[in-house]
Amino acid sequence: MAQIIDGKALAAGIRERIKAEAAVLPRKPGLAVILAGDDPASQLYVKNKVKDCEECGFYSRRYDLPNGSSEEMLLGILNKLNADSSIDGILVQLPLPDQMDEKRIIEAISPEKDVDVFHPLNVGRIVLGDSPVWPCTPAGISEMLEAYHIPVDGKICVMVGRSNIVGKPMGFRLLRDHGTVIYCHRHTPDLAAMTRQADILIVAAGCKGLIRGDMVKEGTIVIDVAMNRDPESGKFSGDVVFDEVEPKASFITPVPGGVGPMTRAMLMKNTLTLAKLHMGLHEAPSYSRRYK
Ligand code: NAD
Repeated sequence: MAQIIDGKALAAGIRERIKAEAAVLPRKPGLAVILAGDDPASQLYVKNKVKDCEECGFYSRRYDLPNGSSEEMLLGILNKLNADSSIDGILVQLPLPDQMDEKRIIEAISPEKDVDVFHPLNVGRIVLGDSPVWPCTPAGISEMLEAYHIPVDGKICVMVGRSNIVGKPMGFRLLRDHGTVIYCHRHTPDLAAMTRQADILIVAAGCKGLIRGDMVKEGTIVIDVAMNRDPESGKFSGDVVFDEVEPKASFITPVPGGVGPMTRAMLMKNTLTLAKLHMGLHEAPSYSRRYK
């Protein structure tokens, strides 16, 4: 019987602490959120981000670009935001409409305001292990493990999924924290042989029912990142067959209520960290602390 990792409760506590820290800063941390197009899921995500800013006492600015807006228009907004001293973090909601080039847009965000940590310069810092901010989902998972006193040091960590947003940076975070990391993906020949080795199993494949009970060992720690939406009920479920895996695991995250709320909370934490850096109140990690 596993202990359930309550991401919702942890995230609420984190937002409280962020609010208290933000209240004593010389000015409010500022986040700009840009939505291009009218994707309903993206609209909801953006609305939640603005709501989280209000709850944390941040300044937020939202831009809604109507369907058919040009890439040049978005680039123009980014240029202004890069130079705006009231804005610490800039987030462009993905996916972008077809007429916009994601790479060009991400690279137009100042690396110092890249709150999602997607800019190639910041990805380089992630690989070096010395970034002051980490992509929100891996950062949230890391905070969860810490909050439940689950050490990564010396553990076999199996990461299912290698996306730029979740899998890859999560693996680098685990490596930084002295885990031994195995990456799995669509081309992994025997997934179960890999997942059975995991002391810590993190799954971000977007493939409902992928991880069955016979694919994990007793006592494993299971973090289910996936958000698979049932088209009929609209309900979300993970990649892990919870009823089969939970009896064998020592810790497990639910879906929903696990990684999702932590991802949201980390956007606020990253905005706060960038604001403190911009105000000269936070030191960027130095190269001398690079792990070996
Ligand atoms: P992605 O589609 O970019 O990447 C999926 C990865 O999983 C790929 O590397 C692919 O090779 C691997 N994969 C897919 N099927 C597999 C299989 N059968 N066996 C082994 N590997 C397989 O997805 P993503 O953006 O990383 O998101 C993954 C999931 O996590 C999605 O369900 C997404 O909704 C969810 N997600 C949740 C949060 C959150 O905050 N909870 C944040 C981001 C993504």
